[in-house]
Amino acid sequence: MTGRDRTVLIVEDNEDNRIVYSTILRHHGFLVSEALDGAEGMAKARRELPDLILMDISIPILDGWEVTERLKHEDATSHIPVIALTAHAMPGDRDRALAAGCDGYLAKPCEPRAVLAEVNRLINRSRSVEPGDA
Ligand code: MN
Repeated sequence: MTGRDRTVLIVEDNEDNRIVYSTILRHHGFLVSEALDGAEGMAKARRELPDLILMDISIPILDGWEVTERLKHEDATSHIPVIALTAHAMPGDRDRALAAGCDGYLAKPCEPRAVLAEVNRLINRSRSVEPGDA
């Protein structure tokens, strides 16, 4: 159980993808919250302060770039790792993800195992730099 009750917010408008990602994360012990558009994603990120956010880029109201940029400019949420999921991998997407402040980047379609691996990588990294660690 790699999740150990750590929380992941999935911001994704496609129901099939939400089910796939939330199923594997819950199976590995993560507590999963879901948002269907950018506005709901912003609100839940601020309210729940998840340990990590899985951010689809193509979502209604505010796109994933916009939501990530806003969260990275707010003191309460700037530390939360964000993994961008882009549907149509373009040559500039990785640069765009970095510019927006994303900590990780996956091109769809992505294997559930790849999502899990990236979540584990970033959650372990953020835990390893918590204050008090030598
Ligand atoms: Mn989408």
